[in-house]
Amino acid sequence: MKKAAYPLAIALACVISFASAQQKATDEAHSDTRDQDSDSWHPAPAREAGEGTGPFRKLVVRGVTLIDGTGAPPRGPVDIVIEGNTITDILRAGTPGLPMQHGREPRDAEHEIDAAGSYAMPGFIDMHVHGSSTDKAPDLGYAYKLWLAHGITTVRGVPLAPHAVATSEQARSARNEIAAPRIFNYQILGWGWRQGPVRTPQRAREWVRWAAKSGIDGIKFMNGYFDSGETPEVIAAAIDEAHNNKMGTVAHLAQTGVAGFNARQAGAAHLDTITHFYGHFESLLKADAIPKYGPDYNFYDEQHRFGDIADIWDQIHPPGSAEWQEYLEHQRAAGVTFDPTMTIYAASRNLMAARNADFHDRYTMPQLWDYFQSSRQNHGSYFFDWTTRREVQWRRFYERFMTLLNDYKNLGGRITTGTDSGFIFKIYGFSFPEEMELLQEAGFHPLEVVRAATMHGALTLYEPKGIRDPPLGVVRAGKLADLVIVKENPLQDFKTLYGTGTPRLNEVTQRLERVGGVSYTIKDGIVYDAKKLLAEVAEMVAAEKRRLGRPDRLPQP
Ligand SMILES: [Zn+2]
Repeated sequence: MKKAAYPLAIALACVISFASAQQKATDEAHSDTRDQDSDSWHPAPAREAGEGTGPFRKLVVRGVTLIDGTGAPPRGPVDIVIEGNTITDILRAGTPGLPMQHGREPRDAEHEIDAAGSYAMPGFIDMHVHGSSTDKAPDLGYAYKLWLAHGITTVRGVPLAPHAVATSEQARSARNEIAAPRIFNYQILGWGWRQGPVRTPQRAREWVRWAAKSGIDGIKFMNGYFDSGETPEVIAAAIDEAHNNKMGTVAHLAQTGVAGFNARQAGAAHLDTITHFYGHFESLLKADAIPKYGPDYNFYDEQHRFGDIADIWDQIHPPGSAEWQEYLEHQRAAGVTFDPTMTIYAASRNLMAARNADFHDRYTMPQLWDYFQSSRQNHGSYFFDWTTRREVQWRRFYERFMTLLNDYKNLGGRITTGTDSGFIFKIYGFSFPEEMELLQEAGFHPLEVVRAATMHGALTLYEPKGIRDPPLGVVRAGKLADLVIVKENPLQDFKTLYGTGTPRLNEVTQRLERVGGVSYTIKDGIVYDAKKLLAEVAEMVAAEKRRLGRPDRLPQP
């Protein structure tokens, strides 16, 4: 039982809960052992020959149109020169509308990519991930390959896996021994050490100092979700100590604690990032600090928790009100980053679309598919009896939440892209373009979306470390060689970033064909063929179906 409860507890940390698993989570968080880890979080297999090429003494990406991540408009054609893992030059390669010159400098490249007509962006940053535990896929490599195949070169695990596994995988990725994005290791307050529960400000400070010594990059707060003694005083002490130790902080302000510690209060306590939507609207309630929960509400009933939350949308001071504006200005002044993870709850506003997404049959592991199915025993889903009214309420809720995000961005507030995939019909990698589409729906210009997905993520990861000019997140000479190269113009259509592309009518043949998908993801100077990565994932999925005796097509209810 212990083996089973531990991975679930972590994996479910953000969106799911399960009464008995919760208590075990709290207990077992304090008895972390390598045995438990390796049982439920299998490391990715080592990178084989041919899995990615390079890094090269000198690599030139020729003739590409550059979207540099800062919000600057596209410019091209340019030649991007990469030496080892570093971008060393960006050279103008010609003039739009005229043929590019032949024999351009530099001429001593070890490898060249002909990217004429393609677009280059900084590698994407997914600010909210969990790894694929063994209840979802055979090993962590499944999530890694799907991330890389979607241009994601950096992830923030909140957490990726238990501390020992996350630390080891982080180091293996840094050495490029595995095909994986760069990993930032955030851990939940109180987890991973062997010194008992954290229930006082003093203990919180001790845990943070232990975490800093253990190489943990930052802390994830759950606002009392695990009944673990995470009071506002404990959180405030941990934030303060985290900043003393150059660690970042991010909070999922769960309903368990939000009456006493909402997003406004978290901002006042100098929290760096608020992830998901929790806590914002609770800071804007008209009547009092508590949403109008129904009389039969039970936090452990997932349909109550994830259904009723949407009803808060018309209990708040509306967009444009003085209170609305004052709230956003307060957060802006406090320097809080919003990491909305809209994709992970998007099934709530259109369940049928999420369940029938184009990628499931080919890329969703059969055990992950099982995990998504509704049942009170199986913590994958809260759709016990999901009605039109629920979806309508969620659409209203999203409309307001999106207005909040767009207004915050327009005030100069920072928004990042996180997905929390592996739950609720959302799989790794594929949910990233959806988050970009949702930001555009919120009112972001596509260039603002790309900036959120790149530079703003990088700033949020590096600022707590005291680094104000991060080594990645924009394409510029001197930065690390993390790039996404795509054939279609992403600013015209983010749908072209899905691994399954997007259907488009070919006017010559009058046939519908799929266009798009990432061509190449370059991480640390290593070039990955994104289509090859997807083919490898498809084969992993097919092999699992064969091993488990499952049909090719996933069963629908
Ligand atoms: Zn999460």
